[in-house]
Amino acid sequence: MKMEAIDKSKLLRHTPNEIKERSALTINPAKTCQPIGAMYAALGIRGCLPHSHGSQGCCAYHRSALTRHYKEPVMAATSSFTEGSSVFGGQANLLQAIDNIFTIYNPDLIAVHTTCLSETIGDDIPQIVNKAAAEGKIPKGKRVIHTNTPSYVGSHVTGFANMVKSMVDYFSTSTGKRKQQINIIPGWVEPSDMEEIKRLTGLMGIKSVMFPDTSKVLNGPLNGKFIMFPDGGVTVEELESTGDSIGTIAMGLWASEAAAKALDTKCKVPYAILDLPIGLKATDRFIDAMRIMTGVSVPEAIEIERGQMLDIITDMHQYFYNKRVGLVGDPDQLIALSEFLVSIDMWPVYVVTGTPGKAFEKRIMEITAGSPYEVKVKAAGDMFLFHQWIKEEPVDLLIGNTYLKYISRDEDIPLIRHGFPILDRVGHSYFPTVGYKGGIRLLEKILTAILDREDRDSEITNFELVM
Ligand code: SF4
Repeated sequence: MKMEAIDKSKLLRHTPNEIKERSALTINPAKTCQPIGAMYAALGIRGCLPHSHGSQGCCAYHRSALTRHYKEPVMAATSSFTEGSSVFGGQANLLQAIDNIFTIYNPDLIAVHTTCLSETIGDDIPQIVNKAAAEGKIPKGKRVIHTNTPSYVGSHVTGFANMVKSMVDYFSTSTGKRKQQINIIPGWVEPSDMEEIKRLTGLMGIKSVMFPDTSKVLNGPLNGKFIMFPDGGVTVEELESTGDSIGTIAMGLWASEAAAKALDTKCKVPYAILDLPIGLKATDRFIDAMRIMTGVSVPEAIEIERGQMLDIITDMHQYFYNKRVGLVGDPDQLIALSEFLVSIDMWPVYVVTGTPGKAFEKRIMEITAGSPYEVKVKAAGDMFLFHQWIKEEPVDLLIGNTYLKYISRDEDIPLIRHGFPILDRVGHSYFPTVGYKGGIRLLEKILTAILDREDRDSEITNFELVM
């Protein structure tokens, strides 16, 4: 076998150029595990303590992943499995944990998710919770909900979707009287994005219940006081009322469809599945869906924001034209980002998500159908393959999470950090990328990355003051 020369200045120097078909090996995964998503979703309920039913190691990892991304202390409890519970099951641990949690931390509710270990054992969480209730371990008015998150299938997005669906399964109730409100299931977006979606809903004059809602939970202010359960999050009463709403807007097929469908089945609340409102077209569709569902008209304030975004696209378009982009991330984010890029004449050429789903590949190919370049897309793919594609033919820009910084450095390609996790920058949980305002921020980030590179690489004779 011919050996490639190894460049020791490269961090990923062992990634070979030659691509070999792999079916049973993932290298540098483009996803993380289910419970992280379940924990993030649970933090979007007011007064909720997420609980990891498994070993301490899993819980420590999930908490630290969320803490590092959101730069906030993430509270969660664990069943702390020992060797004994791994063999005989975790019932005793969970019963003890429920008792301890309500006695010591006094949350309004506990949201239990499983882990690989408790799933493999086959612990029956509803049975254990019923036993806890029968033994008086759940105080009056308090709740324990659960979702199953076996991490050997799906990804963190699957875990998020499962916990959001559990919110419907446990809480949504139909009283038979419709309320003049809509449900918004925002998908896995930043707390800042959830705030922006609520701001747009407010501008439209629409009453909405957003679930989950991590705004003011994971991007709250520093005020010198430790608050275990911040004021943000959807309340249990609001979740119960979702069964009486006139409709549901669910954003992102992977993160939100399961909950929207469950709500329709359980309480006959009709739903519309939309892409995440990233970019002009997807935001237009979101605004239009709200208008149609509620019968209100779009206010001038929103028209002005849209016009501003359009103006900026027009001003910047010449720099975007025909640029090649490589993206790694979660399917809902990548679909919306790809459509946005195509709308400004940039071309996603390599698109990889670690989350499985053939529909993803089909959708990306549809979005990029007019591309002048060959487009490669993979669901349940990894960053190793993505890197090999880049080695075959480079791109002008990378968009993805912090793990892309190794490829960015080795291949000398600018990187815009977007998605989960972002471990080495701050701001993503405070500045939205959804809606027209969020779109303007994304445009500014893309333009800055492109022009910074041009400034760095231009000859002194071409180094321009005005670009
Ligand atoms: S993949 Fe499974 S074992 Fe590993 S941290 Fe996640 S839940 Fe725990």
